[in-house]
Amino acid sequence: MNLFPNNTLLIATHNSGKLDEFKYILKNLNLKIFSAKDLNLDEPIENKDTFLGNARIKSRNACMKCKLPSLADDSGLSVDVLGNKPGVYTADWAETKNGRDYKKGMRRVWDEIILSKKRGPYKASFICTLVINFPNSKEEIFKGKVNGSIIWPMRGKYGQGYDPIFLPDGHKKTFGEMDDNEKNNISHRKIALRKFIKFYKKSHK
Ligand code: IMP
Repeated sequence: MNLFPNNTLLIATHNSGKLDEFKYILKNLNLKIFSAKDLNLDEPIENKDTFLGNARIKSRNACMKCKLPSLADDSGLSVDVLGNKPGVYTADWAETKNGRDYKKGMRRVWDEIILSKKRGPYKASFICTLVINFPNSKEEIFKGKVNGSIIWPMRGKYGQGYDPIFLPDGHKKTFGEMDDNEKNNISHRKIALRKFIKFYKKSHK
């Protein structure tokens, strides 16, 4: 059964940083990609306390409104000495009344680490949970995780969000110092999308 008529996929996000990464990682597939922003969809309230719960809200909302296969990502940073915070609240830590300020979010992560009075290295991971819903009510889940540590001060001008304070294990550059190709080859989103790509290749013929 072809789950992707006309090879069309809706990415249920309004976050341009995430969208660019999806497009980059999926560029070799013959997919027509639209985003929730392109189609003027609303941003549903993400009121669950798990990545899966929030990704599901975004995916189901987009699929119900557009009747297209709708892939949503909920992701965040989990810091060991902070009891896995900020986790699902990663975007919230950067929120200001004028929109998101990731420097503020990164500074809060570092301030809370210092307040914890624990010694480094400060192990952390980036987590990505993808959920795709189809108009026939089928749902699939794909997960990715990359381990690393939090460093200070921030390093790098590339990427998005909290990239400048995340040093992936086995690398000398933070995500913020890596170009698109380097980051998108090892990221949590790439690991989850690799699983999606495998599923897509089986399901679109
Ligand atoms: P969400 O849109 O609720 O999933 O928010 C996820 C938040 O986690 C984003 O706004 C970013 O702040 C952060 N985040 C997720 N993935 C990444 C990444 O690859 N690099 C940096 N920050 C990320």
